[in-house]
Order: sequence, then C-alpha cells, then structure tokens
Amino acid sequence: MASHLYPWQDSLWQSLAGRSQQAHAYLLHGPAGSGKRALVEHFAAFLLCKAPADQQPCGQCSACKLYAAGTHPDLMRLEPEEEGKGILIANVRELVAKILQTSQQGGRKVVIVEPAEAMTTGSANALLKSLEEPAGATVFLLVSHQFSFLLPTIKSRCVLQVCPLPTPEQSVQWLQQQHSELTAEQCQTVLALASGSPLNAQKLLSADVLAVREQVVNGVKQLFKQQSSPSDLAVAWAKMPPELLFDWFCQWAQLMLRYKVTTDDSALGLPDMAVVLKHVAPRAPLATLLQTQDWLLEHRQKVLRRVPLRADLLLEGLLVRWQALLPR
Ligand SMILES: [Zn+2]
Repeated sequence: MASHLYPWQDSLWQSLAGRSQQAHAYLLHGPAGSGKRALVEHFAAFLLCKAPADQQPCGQCSACKLYAAGTHPDLMRLEPEEEGKGILIANVRELVAKILQTSQQGGRKVVIVEPAEAMTTGSANALLKSLEEPAGATVFLLVSHQFSFLLPTIKSRCVLQVCPLPTPEQSVQWLQQQHSELTAEQCQTVLALASGSPLNAQKLLSADVLAVREQVVNGVKQLFKQQSSPSDLAVAWAKMPPELLFDWFCQWAQLMLRYKVTTDDSALGLPDMAVVLKHVAPRAPLATLLQTQDWLLEHRQKVLRRVPLRADLLLEGLLVRWQALLPR
C-alpha cells in the first residue's frame, strides 16, 4: 500500500515536509475525518525513505518498498490493543526498550502514536523521557482527534501541526470526483450530514445515506400526520445504522429547542426537515421536548457504546416520544 495525500493537503504537506529536519516529535491534530492518518503515513514514508526527492518519498528504494509492504522494521506503532481503549503502560515500556536498539535499516526509526489521547497519564509519563531525548534518530509522530484531552507536558515536547477540514468547496469537488453519479447539491447534503468531513461523507455514502435520510424524513412526516405508527416505522427502520438515526433525532430536538426560544428560522438545519421542525416546535410542550431530548441523549450514548438493545423496540420508544411532541 503506497502512501498518498488528499488534494486539500498540499500546503499542509509542504509545511510539514519543510520542517522534517527540525524536530524529533510532531503532533498532528484536528477534527476526525480531516485526513490526518493519510498525512501521518505519508510523513512516515518520507522520513524512512533513503532517497526522497522534491519533498516526496521516492517509492523505489528498499525503505519505500518495505514501507509499502507494511513490513518496515524501523516503523513502530503505539496504539490501543482494542479500539476505544487506552494505550497500556506495558506497551509504552516495550516500545521504549525497542527504540533503544539501533535501527535495522540504518536510517531513522519512526514511531506513530495514534490516537495520542488514548495514552493514560501513566503511559504518557512513561513516554515523556523518550519524547524529550529520543534514542538515536527516532522521530515520534503523534496523531490526535481530541487535542484538549492531551497532557500539556506531551504537547510542549512536540512540533504542533493543525490539520483542518478542507473548505466546503474543496470537499464537494473531491466528493464529486469520487461519486460522479451525485449532483453538487447531493454532495453538499451528504457533507452537511457528515459535519463537513469529506472522508466521513464517503463512509456515509457507502451506507446509502441519501436514501436512508429520505426514508426517515418521510417517515417522520407520516408519523405527525398519523399516517404511520411508531411500531410500523420501527420495523421499517430496524436495519438502518442506529447511530445515524440517533444523531439526526438529537440534532432535530436541539434545533426545535433553539427555534422555540429564538424563533430564528434561518437556523433549522437541512431544508428537508426545516418545515416540519418549524411546524412542530411552537406546538410542542417545552417539558415534553426537554424530556425527549434527555431520553435521546441518554440512549444515543448506549447506541455509541454498543450496549446490546433490540433495534425495533428502541426505535419504537423513540418514535412514541417523538409523536407526543405534536399533541392531537
Ligand atoms: Zn524511497
């Protein structure tokens, strides 16, 4: 697998590659879905390459070939053993012992730490000394989606590189190149559903998000018109990704609350639901709306933590509460 960059990362890359001789620890941070992983992988390949040219890894030397095969012995990764878990202090100690040895290819050693916020205080402290005075030619590349969670002692030892999301124009252009079947307007919708991240938009598209969204919006309209029951819709939606549904309903509840307080109809979210929210919000009893939001937030946490729940019962519970927002 060769490393690659996304088109919106050109200037970011120039700035990073231009500083590649300056430090032995870098911290790349920014929102999830901005392409930090691609950037850090490309940087690692560049640092390991024996004959970089034009600020790029050559792709031909023995180091580049080992990198591409995923078997470069001087590229090490410090990450949680299980996704969502912490980075163990035992793994940090093992790594620290390893980087004390000479590099096997005679060049740099590169350590990717991802996500850096998964380090516990103990793990971070165990790494501090190596970060400050790395053995031999070791370069640390830390990646963080949650910059504010990192210890100041870690941040202060790294060259910081922020990785922002691309502009909406860049994102739409890239999405359209990947999905020529979509119109610019559809790309904008998916991008909004993905909170501005083109990479997350790409993931949503593989889950057929536009069709799911249309079905859900139509279902909500039918629910308020008493044309569908909560139990019918729950059965019809049982196979949809629950985290997506809970994201949308949480957002809709929040938009309604805001509209109820501000009556500012320019902030009602995507146009497909704006009319419905504007109709329901003034009629929804405030207490019911607040209780519904609490229920949604609580159950969204369960969904995100993958607590085993029966999808149809969970959705029916949601829709019964949702229907009650519009008293008959
Ligand atoms: Zn090379």
